[in-house]
Amino acid sequence: MAWKTSAKIKSSKRTKRDMWVGFKPYGIGETKPNHYKEMLKTLWENRDNLPYAWRILHKGVCDGCALGVAGFHDWTLSGVHLCTTRLNLLRTNTMGPLDHALLADVAPLKTLRNRELRDLGRLAHPMVRRAGEPGFTQVSWGEALDLIADRIRATTPDRLAVYLTARGITNETYYVAQKFTRFVGSNNIDNAARVCHAPSTTTLKRTIGVAATTCSYTDVINSDLVVLFGANVANGQPVFMKYLYLARKRGAKVAVVNPLREPGLDRYWVPSNVESAMFGTQMTDEWFAVNTGGDLAFLNGVLKVLLADGAVDRDFVRDHTEGFDDVVVELDRESFDDLERQSGATRADMERFARMYASARSAVLIWSMGITQHERGADNVAAIVNLGLARGNVGRPGAGLMPIRGHSGVQGGAEMGAYATALPGGLDVNAANAAALSEHYGFAVGDRPGITAEEMVEAAGRGEIDVLYSSGGNFLEVLPEPDVVDAALARVPLRVHQDVVLSTQMFTEPGQVVVLLPAATRYEKRNGGTETTTERRIAYSPEIEGPRPGEVRSEWEIFVELARRVAPERAEQCTFASGQEIRDEIARVVPVYSGVELLRTTGDAIQWGGTRLCEGGTFPTPDGRARFLAVAPSEVDVPPGSFVLSTRRGKQFNTMVHEQKDPLTGAMRDALFMAASDIEGLGLRDGDRVVVRSDHGEMRARLHESPLRPGNVQAFFPEGNVLLRAGRRDPASGVPDYNAVVTVEAAR
Ligand code: SF4
Repeated sequence: MAWKTSAKIKSSKRTKRDMWVGFKPYGIGETKPNHYKEMLKTLWENRDNLPYAWRILHKGVCDGCALGVAGFHDWTLSGVHLCTTRLNLLRTNTMGPLDHALLADVAPLKTLRNRELRDLGRLAHPMVRRAGEPGFTQVSWGEALDLIADRIRATTPDRLAVYLTARGITNETYYVAQKFTRFVGSNNIDNAARVCHAPSTTTLKRTIGVAATTCSYTDVINSDLVVLFGANVANGQPVFMKYLYLARKRGAKVAVVNPLREPGLDRYWVPSNVESAMFGTQMTDEWFAVNTGGDLAFLNGVLKVLLADGAVDRDFVRDHTEGFDDVVVELDRESFDDLERQSGATRADMERFARMYASARSAVLIWSMGITQHERGADNVAAIVNLGLARGNVGRPGAGLMPIRGHSGVQGGAEMGAYATALPGGLDVNAANAAALSEHYGFAVGDRPGITAEEMVEAAGRGEIDVLYSSGGNFLEVLPEPDVVDAALARVPLRVHQDVVLSTQMFTEPGQVVVLLPAATRYEKRNGGTETTTERRIAYSPEIEGPRPGEVRSEWEIFVELARRVAPERAEQCTFASGQEIRDEIARVVPVYSGVELLRTTGDAIQWGGTRLCEGGTFPTPDGRARFLAVAPSEVDVPPGSFVLSTRRGKQFNTMVHEQKDPLTGAMRDALFMAASDIEGLGLRDGDRVVVRSDHGEMRARLHESPLRPGNVQAFFPEGNVLLRAGRRDPASGVPDYNAVVTVEAAR
């Protein structure tokens, strides 16, 4: 069970000169992360608590992205697994409490950014602020919980909403939070997966019957072809670059479909590999520049070429799928002229991709936010699944569909049922599944889906939410149109913000009262906890000995205590005495998680579903067959002189910005990424200050010349959120659209 006994891939000692960038030890002089400087910075930042910091790194499961590592080792490769994202997040776990006297007046705190608030220290005591008061007053846990419980009792379940973030939260917390929410009669619970991979969850369920990555990382390394669609793993999942490096060394091709030729995917220095660290590695063989939102048209064009070339795996399609004929009819309706215009790619590009794909014996198709955070996110995912099914690239070695996850909690959050549209096990919210869960729980579970993350804020804005309970996260920075979000939050009579540090949303004016609850980090949680990685591995992270700031509590314990105060007469229906008890119940309620109750120590893990899902082309759908979905591209109306803007990440972890300068691109936080020809067309120069306007807002920015497909621009998230329109989202999955049509002009 432990990583020590897993078969791991060793790095080949043979060098491969054709992959070298050139002799540049550690990429000196290049625009790239300086891993050694980051290590020294981490040492310095954590100097007051180094033994604890070391124990977290040595024993904990990383609370950064969902690639997954326990201590310094993962379950895929021999050698060390560590990245700067993990190091950057470490201080949040080791710092002491903030000076709570600062909270007595929030006015100065409102001028601080999230990063500055975080640096003040850990939230360590329950605090309350009522409307009209300048700031927060410290209260006891009992007072805080009684206040919340009274309000929950006084309202109706439909006017309660619970939201959880995705960083650091354990499966145990998600599980108890959703059970608590259903215990008080509501299905209004959602998590951060809603604003990232909800389209993947929705479409994978519809097409292949299971909302998870179908393969393992070993399949990536052993594949013939790895394709990244709208995913910048150099930034989001840095150690994945090591997997790609090994894949390339073993002969795989790596292709990228993206509006911007990301420098980190172009060439990379893997710090723990001598050859790569010395000579750098050309990571990508083939680039395909598409428009923002042009992926669907590009993918349909590729499928059209495969059909014309007779390169579709007809046996697989016939024996294991449904719906292909509808796709053919749809593709017949689409002309290459239209597909070229919609995708931004040429027909020759589509043919080049199709022939590369057809000649690969196996392929892993990987995608992320560039695909999902669109009004048509679910359809974009469907087009990728169609491509995978067309050549049977599911359920066999070296092949798979991988919605790569950027946060350690997002895969498990939905599988634990902390999701408006899913019960534990990722089951649909319907009468039969609700009845079965009611049997387990001994209380009635609602059989209608709850409201999703953005819907919660919209309902708040209409005055339809009385209690908004947010565990981590920051709606003000995550959702489009921050001023609309702020106004909506200010209407909620009771807001609860349960967190390890301060965030800007805590200082939105109280509707009536705001309660802050100090949460324990992943490593402080009593009896440890588990995380589910992108490759479905449930990994155990133990409770780690160290200082505990003030009165912090494990989040699952807070929900248990709250249940006891809301309904003491039936509190035993929602009570747990330990993390172990929660895992025991998860194993009973979510059969695919069976074995989670046996995890005890660092390195312990089980991979639900085994190495591969859908093995042999047998899909977990009612008839065992996968579904093709016919999806038609749509036109984005871009007036002449306007651009399509998408939001992107820099040196940050979701809304937690670590550095003003992105080491991978060299861009500052106010950058507007733009193609050289577009800059020239505007009569401007690289570095010029500009005003970017959409029909919903404007931001001041500085031009950052980039290898971007002309007609498209990019701004950092969350700074660019002022340009986005609230309420525009993918109807199938509820993910907000993080794109906008904008104009750009010189700033005066
Ligand atoms: S790649 Fe992801 S899981 Fe691995 S150390 Fe970095 S943040 Fe953690």
